[in-house]
Amino acid sequence: MKVSEKLENINKEIYSACERAGRQPDTVKIVAVTKYVSNERTQEAVDAGLVHLGENRPEGFHEKKEAVSGNIKWHYIGSLQSRKVKNVINDIDYLHSLDRLSLVKEIQKRAEHQVDCFIQINVSGEEQKHGLSPENAAHFVEDLANYDKINVVGLMTMAPLTEDEEVIRSCFKQLAVLRDSIAAKNLQHAPCTELSMGMSNDFTIAIEEGATYIRIGSSLVGE
Ligand SMILES: *Cc1c(COP(=O)(O)O)cnc(C)c1O
Repeated sequence: MKVSEKLENINKEIYSACERAGRQPDTVKIVAVTKYVSNERTQEAVDAGLVHLGENRPEGFHEKKEAVSGNIKWHYIGSLQSRKVKNVINDIDYLHSLDRLSLVKEIQKRAEHQVDCFIQINVSGEEQKHGLSPENAAHFVEDLANYDKINVVGLMTMAPLTEDEEVIRSCFKQLAVLRDSIAAKNLQHAPCTELSMGMSNDFTIAIEEGATYIRIGSSLVGE
């Protein structure tokens, strides 16, 4: 199926989720996760009108960035090893996986401009997952005041892999509460207004719980 057809279907689901939640559809941005797909398929996504693209590997990123043209904002959504920071940090518009001080320090050293970052939170506490615990998030964000290359635009999470909607919903709800509590501090380096949550299988729930960026791969650009 063409990306444009898949996008039409996704947009319908976004609209009805927004309607259920009493939200305006233009408050939800789609990050098309193109990490699995070819440069051609990625170009097709851009031509379908998708602006935000998500990648998760330093390898191949530059090649893709050069091959694909248009009005694009590049989102780095995967865990980022500190030693790879220098390879990508000046070529992305958003980082969704800031989760530790060593990474902050490396960004401070390597970035030529301020980087818009989401703090990745491990809401569900699963051991194999990256991200700060919700308890540690507020302090972590406050400490970032000392690093002028970091602008905290919001929080990001991945819900547990489960069929249980209530477990997923509870995870997203907790992230929204945490986002609100950090935003309420009115920190200059951390407006923290955005919520990056929801993927192919759970983005409608995420929208109902306040997602402003949904990260969709397989059901949007999958071949
Ligand atoms: C791959 C990935 C996605 C997209 O997953 P789909 O299930 O294909 O929609 C979203 N977020 C992150 C962090 C990812 O790694």
